[in-house]
Amino acid sequence: MNLRIPGPTPCPEEVLAAGAQQMMNHRGPEFAQVLRRVTDGLNWMFQTSSDVLSATTSGTGGLEMAVVNTLSPGDKVLAVSIGSFGERFRSIAQAYGAGIVSYALEWGEAADPKEVGRLLDENPDVKAVTVTHNETSTGVTNPIEAIAKEARSRDKLILVDAVSSMSSIPCPVERWDLDVVVSGSQKGWMVPPGLAFVYMSERAWAANAEAKMPRFYFDAAKTRDSLAKGQNPWTPAMSIYFALDKAFELMRAEGLEGIFTRHQAIADYTRSRVKSLGLKLVPVDEQFASNTVTAVWWPEGVDGSAISKRAREEFGIVLGGGQGKLQGKIFRVGHLGWVQQREVEEALDVVEKLLGESRTA
Ligand SMILES: *Cc1c(COP(=O)(O)O)cnc(C)c1O
Repeated sequence: MNLRIPGPTPCPEEVLAAGAQQMMNHRGPEFAQVLRRVTDGLNWMFQTSSDVLSATTSGTGGLEMAVVNTLSPGDKVLAVSIGSFGERFRSIAQAYGAGIVSYALEWGEAADPKEVGRLLDENPDVKAVTVTHNETSTGVTNPIEAIAKEARSRDKLILVDAVSSMSSIPCPVERWDLDVVVSGSQKGWMVPPGLAFVYMSERAWAANAEAKMPRFYFDAAKTRDSLAKGQNPWTPAMSIYFALDKAFELMRAEGLEGIFTRHQAIADYTRSRVKSLGLKLVPVDEQFASNTVTAVWWPEGVDGSAISKRAREEFGIVLGGGQGKLQGKIFRVGHLGWVQQREVEEALDVVEKLLGESRTA
């Protein structure tokens, strides 16, 4: 199968093999070494000198961790949403009792930093901004650095969903002065689902000391204290740590620049090939098009789900579908993590062939 969805993504054989190793004591010295190496790898990718936390959960659990560890019920949040994952982050804040100021854009658009600033001026009691770095449902990457500047200059926390960007697109958390940044193992990290990664700034830790939202499993302070002892507070998904330990060897060999350049080049290829097929990108302004996932409108009158089905059944190409209101209207090609251009080429060759056949049929 050529799995071209934006997560879970394919994993290298050696990473899968590392994940298949025998269990060890999760409170013993051997696992402490694995956890230390993996945490060093996370710090390297997040570009921070303070330890990134990891938790056994999917990306959504990481988003929940960001919310419950920095806020109290009744706190106001400016929820920036450009697609289904922005909505999810907002829903989590809402579920835990945050008051919501909503900045929701048409799907396909990127958030405007100036509008974020204006909304913060209009709502001075907002405590935090929630925002998606890379909106996987529309293939749009928000200008996080500029959005963060608006939040910072008004002394607001900025909580960032970097689940499908971190490890593939630059997201230097300290240089951009972000407060909480979340990622998830099954996206660009070349490992299976099961772990979420959460960076917290000094300001986030100060907010944590005051934060009253209920939390137990996702308590960041407990996670940090356990990490200092080389442990997780709970039994972790050890196999994913073993796999990630190996994946970091591969990532470090390629280097940050190498990883980011490869994603940029494959994304450039994907977009130009899609346009050469006469298809339209979902991102309204191509300068915000994502380097990890490309979302494409099916042409008018074409049965996209039939094409996706044939691609899978006859050619072993698994395309991503549309989420929420885009279901059946778009397809998405994931190009993050362990990916080379030829895999995207192969997928788009098949899309071209099937589109041609559906037009002559
Ligand atoms: C995948 C993803 C998530 C988390 O999804 P899980 O299924 O919980 O791992 C969150 N945000 C974005 C942008 C994502 O791509």
